Amino acid sequence: MTELTDFQRKTAAFFPEISLSFGESLAKHTSFRIGGPAEVMAFPKNGEELSELLNKSALLDRKPVILGAGTNVLAPDEGLPGLAICLKDCLDGMERVDETHIRVMAGVTMTRCAMFAAKEGLSGLEFAHGIPGTIGGGVYMNAGAYGGEIARVCVEAELMTSTGVRYTRTREEMAFSYRHSCLEETGDIVLSALLELTPGDPEQIRQRMKELQAKRSASQPLNYPSAGSAFKRPSQGYAAALIDEAGLRGYRVGDAAISEKHAGFAVNLGNATAEQVKRLLADVARIVKEKSGIQLEPEVRVW
Ligand SMILES: Cc1cc2nc3c(=O)[nH]c(=O)nc-3n(C[C@H](O)[C@H](O)[C@H](O)COP(=O)(O)OP(=O)(O)OC[C@H]3O[C@@H](n4cnc5c(N)ncnc54)[C@H](O)[C@@H]3O)c2cc1C
Repeated sequence: MTELTDFQRKTAAFFPEISLSFGESLAKHTSFRIGGPAEVMAFPKNGEELSELLNKSALLDRKPVILGAGTNVLAPDEGLPGLAICLKDCLDGMERVDETHIRVMAGVTMTRCAMFAAKEGLSGLEFAHGIPGTIGGGVYMNAGAYGGEIARVCVEAELMTSTGVRYTRTREEMAFSYRHSCLEETGDIVLSALLELTPGDPEQIRQRMKELQAKRSASQPLNYPSAGSAFKRPSQGYAAALIDEAGLRGYRVGDAAISEKHAGFAVNLGNATAEQVKRLLADVARIVKEKSGIQLEPEVRVW
């Protein structure tokens, strides 16, 4: 057994009731399967535990990081000092509110949420089926696919400030834009989202989700760890097409590679490190800029 750090001892004393793990591998919690140990990882069961973690962590002198399903982050090889708060499967639960609204807790995956909506005969979340992140991460990022995005359906988000205070923001106050919300600036945390959908036939909704899933499987390298699209869509053209035109399909830095199947994806071929992925993204952005004059920006959040 390795000895606990001061921070780990303090955290254990501060939060005796909350589920904590010391030195938990971030690679286990990220879809890239990359990342060293988190000094402390916390798994709050509900908003009260999250509030307690946020409140008291001000006394611990280190700002915690928030992890959903880890499907859009690149975690550092050396791991993270301090506290990582994992919300996937912790803030769990969904309910139908009325004819056209459902409320979904932040830790529910978008696929589960889309399946719940289909069962309830509600249309509008078909695009989200197959996006592997949580509703919390989806609201934070304004996740989207196949012409749909969270901003279209999320009419209100229940949030918590970094000091543990709950409040709500309407869709307009969330300032959604392409793969962005105001949470990137405020640092507030999503507890739940109120989604407005339209009544539809469950079978047709399921059929549409099946079609989109088939499109994903046909075009995306789902057999390799990745974080989805490596770059945001630039205002001129598509990142994947620009990368392809620059001759970078299959380009490698160690075990980090541009997918042969979909040039918009950076994949981990086995033992890629965060440093290799960062170099890969930097090389690709530089070469695409030289060849096309267009600057690519990473979509994946590099921690
Ligand atoms: C195979 C594959 C396919 C993908 N396809 C798509 C796609 O079609 N469209 C798309 O948009 N994305 C796609 N993604 C990327 C990813 O699934 C989405 O960006 C998703 O929204 C991230 O959610 P997450 O829970 O995994 O967030 P994480 O990766 O855990 O976190 C991402 C960011 O959100 C923040 N965050 C997470 N939860 C919360 C919360 N509750 N409150 C506040 N901040 C929070 C984190 O701090 C971090 O900064 C894909 C990824 C993969 C691996």
